[in-house]
Amino acid sequence: MSESVTALFESLVGAEPPHDVPVLFDTACVMGGSIAGLLAARVLSDRARKVVIVEPDETPAEAESRSGVPQDQQVHTLLPAGRLWIERWLPGVSQEAQDRGASLVGPDKQFVGYDDIRQARDGTDHQFLAVGRPLLESIVRDRVTALPNVSVLRAQATGLRYGDGAVAGVRLAGPVPGDGDQGEREEGDLAADFVVDATGRSSRLSNWLGQDDYDQPRLERLASPVNYATALFERPVKFPELEVATVLHLFTPQYPSGGVSVAAATAIEGQQWLVMLMGYGDNRPGRTTDELRARCAALPGILGDITSGDVTREVVTYRQADSRRRHFTEASHLPARLVSVGDAVASFNPVYGQGMSSAALHASCLASYLDGFADVGEAATEFFRLQQTVVDAAWAVSAGGDAARIDAENGTEVPKEIHRQRRAMERIAGAALVDPDVSRAFNNVSYMLRHPTTLFDPKLLEKATAAAERAAEK
Ligand SMILES: Cc1cc2nc3c(=O)[nH]c(=O)nc-3n(C[C@H](O)[C@H](O)[C@H](O)COP(=O)(O)OP(=O)(O)OC[C@H]3O[C@@H](n4cnc5c(N)ncnc54)[C@H](O)[C@@H]3O)c2cc1C
Repeated sequence: MSESVTALFESLVGAEPPHDVPVLFDTACVMGGSIAGLLAARVLSDRARKVVIVEPDETPAEAESRSGVPQDQQVHTLLPAGRLWIERWLPGVSQEAQDRGASLVGPDKQFVGYDDIRQARDGTDHQFLAVGRPLLESIVRDRVTALPNVSVLRAQATGLRYGDGAVAGVRLAGPVPGDGDQGEREEGDLAADFVVDATGRSSRLSNWLGQDDYDQPRLERLASPVNYATALFERPVKFPELEVATVLHLFTPQYPSGGVSVAAATAIEGQQWLVMLMGYGDNRPGRTTDELRARCAALPGILGDITSGDVTREVVTYRQADSRRRHFTEASHLPARLVSVGDAVASFNPVYGQGMSSAALHASCLASYLDGFADVGEAATEFFRLQQTVVDAAWAVSAGGDAARIDAENGTEVPKEIHRQRRAMERIAGAALVDPDVSRAFNNVSYMLRHPTTLFDPKLLEKATAAAERAAEK
């Protein structure tokens, strides 16, 4: 990766949203009304006369789980980069979430431990938002749909319409069998002069493009079978000093706690602990609250105490087989006026917590693309190039970690350069436990504030080696 990619990534993370941008479109359509779609709609609301979000799920009146986002009962932490960007597009989201019981968690309220070693404080004030996924989505949705030119059309997108090599509209399905009394859905076509695909990791966009004689972006999959089990517990004021507790055993799948690789507790709204256990492959974290409690009790740290309280929601499990990304930059024949964002483009191993932050950065890519005098009569190559920078950065961290784990498990011999990079990453991750400077550099990358190349700075590697030696001498 070149230095300019690093600079581009950091300019996307650090840029201010532009003001007074010209209106480029009459009707922009966003397919999918979850986090990625809502943020794209926010960006487009400044650049289109009207923005229509097409979403098959009924909008829940309250912050409730919904079927179109089956992962929404699992832990969803908003990393500092995502929070920064959501705040820039929708100021006040964090405060509203806190007013409704979520926690803004700085370093002083976190315990991050690898087995029983606590990670060194990094001397920064980076803050996560610990919040239930339905609450965060409902706050974002209320703000976006309150914009005067944004509306939601309850329908399912089933394909695209074209004219002159550009997208000209979206095909909509009528009522879905078994939909019961959930209200009317629209059927027919919606004319639009800009379309965003935000339909999540099962996006059908690629199939539609193939059927319509356009290129299908290459789909890359990396097996990373993760099994989640998440439950909610009452949070009496037992640990007032702590709002996030995470214990990681990433490279020890046979840990005696039953193969749990990651355990996390986050303090969310309703005075509750949201407790998640994750295991890779055949390591299942259990399906019942008793199993979850037993595994937490075997872990180092305070997870055992946290889960000894009353349950407010029993265990909900979730399995995801792979990380995947679609390579739009490799497709040479795409229609103009079409982009794709969020999980529809790249969906990562969720344990790294990158999805919503990536979606927020995709929204900033969209703004940069449209405001950079994009020729919207051509395919959105420049948008996909900007977005690739963000996807590559996130992929390098999460998929890189998974590939290393899989190769280690299988005893696979890897090329020298990859071996060298992985050794460097291991050294940095190890040193981050004991050295605040290394911890800061490592966290900045994990939190998507800085590009992964910043970790390969020779001075940092030297420091990491010295820190590892000091730790070994203790
Ligand atoms: C177990 C798990 C844990 C995770 N934890 C975290 C975390 O801690 N932090 C984090 O940042 N991210 C996390 N993620 C990722 C996060 O859930 C997603 O990145 C985030 O929801 C953004 O996704 P999205 O908006 O692109 O898609 P989704 O949230 O999946 O939403 C897709 C939307 O498209 C709609 N839709 C589908 N088909 C159509 C259609 N044909 N027409 C119209 N609409 C359609 C759906 O109804 C839905 O509203 C986690 C994911 C999983 C699986």
